[in-house]
Amino acid sequence: MRLFSKYKVPYLTFDLLEETGLVKHGFSTRFGGVSSGHLSSMNLGFLKGDDPDRVNENYRRMGRALGIKPEQMVMSVLEHGTVVKRVSADDAGKGITCPSDLSGCDGLITNAPGLALVCRYADCIPLFFLDPVKMAIGLSHSGWRGTAGKMACATVKAMTQAFGSDPVDILACIGPGICRDCFEVGAEVAEIFASAFPGSDPELIKRRGDGKYLVDLWGFNALAMKEAGIRDDHLEISQLCTCCNPDIFFSHRVTGGKRGDMAGFLMLG
Ligand SMILES: [Zn+2]
Repeated sequence: MRLFSKYKVPYLTFDLLEETGLVKHGFSTRFGGVSSGHLSSMNLGFLKGDDPDRVNENYRRMGRALGIKPEQMVMSVLEHGTVVKRVSADDAGKGITCPSDLSGCDGLITNAPGLALVCRYADCIPLFFLDPVKMAIGLSHSGWRGTAGKMACATVKAMTQAFGSDPVDILACIGPGICRDCFEVGAEVAEIFASAFPGSDPELIKRRGDGKYLVDLWGFNALAMKEAGIRDDHLEISQLCTCCNPDIFFSHRVTGGKRGDMAGFLMLG
């Protein structure tokens, strides 16, 4: 990933996507917005107790930096599942500038140019997809449930069904999220990963002396990408931990939930 800044708004981009010249995209940080206190300053969540005018201004600022208007954005409806929905120009603005009638969907896909997919995060893993052949995109939210449910596979499958995408053509990126050493879980969750990914590298689920486990969500998402047919040289992993860097990112774990939302943005054109 690379850090850019426009109009005093910093954002991260993936080299793999940037190099194609086919999309506008970015991932926000805590900086460049107008929210205050524990939401300081680029809070992109409308459900975090923030003044809606401030959140709207934050979306306007992010959009200005990325070259995307808020009316062009459509937001996913998070439920920690693996439902992926296809959206079109008719859905523009939903969840950002107008109410959304979309039901639960942690992933969005489209082939509509000028429609920006938006998804919120704070430790969960962002997944970005671009099929430069069929000209289609996807943006997904993969927390631990989504990761164990193989959200990466669900998104690729949805693109294949909707747009005829061939997985070998798709460029995929795993964005900033919680790292293995920060993601402590109990035996139950560790067991869910062990059965979802049998025979995987033992380093992905590390047992600590105190009986707790550390689970590598980046690594498991990368495994799911491979299972979906994504080529190794078509995968970029940010390796930026939101929990290790709470001064740069909002982290759910660090704050116990008292925090703002970051967002990923992806648009064809
Ligand atoms: Zn970390």
